[in-house]
Amino acid sequence: MSTHIDTHNHVVTTPVQPKLVDKFGRHIDYVRLSVTDRCDFRCVYCMTEEMTFLPRKDVLTLEEIYQVGRAFTELGVSRLRLTGGEPLVRNNVMALVQALGRLPGLRELLLTTNGAQLVQMAGPLRDAGVNRINISIDSLDADRFKRITRTGRLDKVLAGIEAARNCNFDRIRLNTVIMKGYNDDEVIRLTDYAVERGLDIAFIEEMPLGQASDHLREDTVCSNDWVLEQIQQRYTLQSTSDSTAGPSRYYQIPGERSRIGFISPMSHNFCGDCNRVRMTVEGRLLLCLGNEHSADLRKILRAGIDENTRKDELAQLEVSEDLPVSGELKTAIIAAMDLKPERHHFYENDYAQPVRLMNMTGG
Ligand code: SAM
Ligand code: SF4
Repeated sequence: MSTHIDTHNHVVTTPVQPKLVDKFGRHIDYVRLSVTDRCDFRCVYCMTEEMTFLPRKDVLTLEEIYQVGRAFTELGVSRLRLTGGEPLVRNNVMALVQALGRLPGLRELLLTTNGAQLVQMAGPLRDAGVNRINISIDSLDADRFKRITRTGRLDKVLAGIEAARNCNFDRIRLNTVIMKGYNDDEVIRLTDYAVERGLDIAFIEEMPLGQASDHLREDTVCSNDWVLEQIQQRYTLQSTSDSTAGPSRYYQIPGERSRIGFISPMSHNFCGDCNRVRMTVEGRLLLCLGNEHSADLRKILRAGIDENTRKDELAQLEVSEDLPVSGELKTAIIAAMDLKPERHHFYENDYAQPVRLMNMTGG
């Protein structure tokens, strides 16, 4: 048996024998749940300018997403991350966050956001049990920020970061995608901004998920080895063993709270340590970010529910925590682990890359 403290400071004892293990012996204990494919931004690496979003009937209800999150925690998953699209634009998303925050056995509830709604929402998210928050920011120049996000406003995001800093999250991490010709001269400025505020910052290499409409990815992709070199010219970086048990490699700056992370799917393969799966908002359980292997959980969630009842459910914005999780759902999740491929093939030019954009994937 192993014990840990859950989001309510309760000691939770779990069997050591993990329930979710793939064919390669990797133990899955981290799940990312996409709560929407929609967003108020249109970042150039993530979306095209004109987007068609999913029809409402294809999108899981908050209740259905909760059922999946609960099934995973009952199968031993201790960390859930809400993402999207932009999770905070989903109508009444707080009902879902609050319900997930009360799940027994959940060690950490995490959220990735573009930060634009955090002035209003940082406090309620913290109160609902969100432990850590990632906020994406790719530039500190207002015009450039607009060019990259197409519709975003830097001042709103900076105010959101300040609001989050006042809410006592365990950690706040900035996520930055450095792209040649867009923001590759801002590595130090963004790092200084994070370090001065005691925030973590992670540099994510641009991934070939779907076609970018404003640039060719091969022209903009920037190796994290280069980003690391830039930062080492200014800061002493000590390698740490801290990891989210997955793709991030972290460094500490002596005497500073901030950690500098590198997520380098294009230049370093970290698949051997992959402990995660993700669910799209259509209920497609993706076993790997860079492959199409998946299981259809929506079909199981909606089996036996007639069209009219389902329409009523789509209209509802509440989450019922009383309904038990179906055994079929848990069986399907366990069975899906066998589909998890050994690795992605992002840096192989002749390999067919996924056509899904990141907002559809659940970043
Ligand atoms: N809207 C939220 C946000 O921007 O943080 C959450 C969803 S977003 C898809 C999650 C993360 O994926 C962001 O940090 C974003 O920078 C990153 N991202 C999106 N498309 C990407 C791509 N093609 N390559 C690398 N990172 C990407
Ligand atoms: Fe929206 Fe996040 Fe994608 Fe930017 S990266 S378009 S904020 S979902």
